[in-house]
Amino acid sequence: MKKQICILGSTGSIGTQALDVIEQHADLYEVYCLTANNRYKELAEQARKFRPAAVVIANEAHYEPLCQLLNDCPDVKVYAGKAALDEIVSATPIDMVLTAMVGFAGLSPTIHAIQARKKICLANKETLVVAGELICKLAQQHHVPILPVDSEHSAIFQSLVGENDNEIEKILLTASGGPFRTYTLERMRHVTAADALKHPTWEMGAKITIDSASMMNKGFEVIEAKWLFGVPVEKIQVLVHPQSIVHSAVQFADGGIKAQLGVPDMRLPIQYAFSFPERLPLHGQRLDMFKQPLEFFEPDMGKFKCLALAYEAMRQGGNMPCVLNAANEVVNEAFRHGKCSFLDMGNIIEKTMQRVSYDKSSQFQIYVDTDAETRRVAEEMVHELRR
Ligand code: NAD
Ligand code: MG
Repeated sequence: MKKQICILGSTGSIGTQALDVIEQHADLYEVYCLTANNRYKELAEQARKFRPAAVVIANEAHYEPLCQLLNDCPDVKVYAGKAALDEIVSATPIDMVLTAMVGFAGLSPTIHAIQARKKICLANKETLVVAGELICKLAQQHHVPILPVDSEHSAIFQSLVGENDNEIEKILLTASGGPFRTYTLERMRHVTAADALKHPTWEMGAKITIDSASMMNKGFEVIEAKWLFGVPVEKIQVLVHPQSIVHSAVQFADGGIKAQLGVPDMRLPIQYAFSFPERLPLHGQRLDMFKQPLEFFEPDMGKFKCLALAYEAMRQGGNMPCVLNAANEVVNEAFRHGKCSFLDMGNIIEKTMQRVSYDKSSQFQIYVDTDAETRRVAEEMVHELRR
């Protein structure tokens, strides 16, 4: 029986690479459902090719045109809206849900997928940043495995295979350092969104590329690692590793370190999440160990304030990581549209964290309310910049 996969965010960077993996292993995997937010034309093309049982377009404004594009494919059911995402993930035939949408919007469908006992292949790290405690509790309660797709967490996960209950002494979480790694703070003051969108080693969606440039992405990944592997953040060391070859490592009680290496290619962690514990062949480039040296540096938290803020949010716990995420979603978008500067991003997130009401409970509704309140506060601050 082929495994039935639902891809949330199939038109994005992770989504399209996942379809590539599925195509390469069409004997093992089948697409059950594809979803997108706005790109209905791409979604229709994907549906024509992969013939899923259903497609969902989150933005309801695109429902009619999407239906028209697919009106000669009666085998593909078309749905629209956020509620349809929550519903489709629990369809009985689905074995795995790949969460590859961006931001807070991924939280609700992920919760529904866990409640329906679907294996989660998690790319949407914001879900764990916002609601790590709740998600872990639910996954445990419903006996649902969460397989990391983020390359660093996949590397950690791969390093832990066979280690059973052996204690983790330290997680070594690598970071490329982004395009501004060697810039002074003064130089960072003047960078544009176009500069930030030129990632040195990975090709990804726009939001995560900006997060990588500010190193908020690494801050998120520290939080993600804490929840996925049950390790306190003090035991997670960020290493700036500009080559992006060592995808992360784990140090054990005897000082031994296990790492996973390879060329930067997200298809490997995506495929591993699908096939675990098996490894399947993957066509593509192989790492040439003679080609370049491997370097490691300490991150500069003074320069990359967002990374420091992520540690602070985690230290405070409760809804603070949710505040961190929502404020970041606002400033990330504002920066991409030229409405705030690169350094404004960290400053606004910091001020928003001081202003939004703190709540230490871990309920879904608290996260929804916190997300909404934070967006209001952060948007207001972005607005004030222009006055
Ligand atoms: P992307 O922008 O390329 O694609 C996002 C996808 O999600 C699209 O299909 C889009 O239609 C959909 N989407 C966006 N907002 C939505 C909303 N509000 N409701 C419903 N659907 C929505 O993003 P990406 O780079 O593929 O990243 C996806 C997720 O994976 C992010 O959480 C990111 O942090 C994580 N991730 C990405 C990479 C990477 O290499 N791209 C690596 C690690 C983790
Ligand atoms: Mg990553």
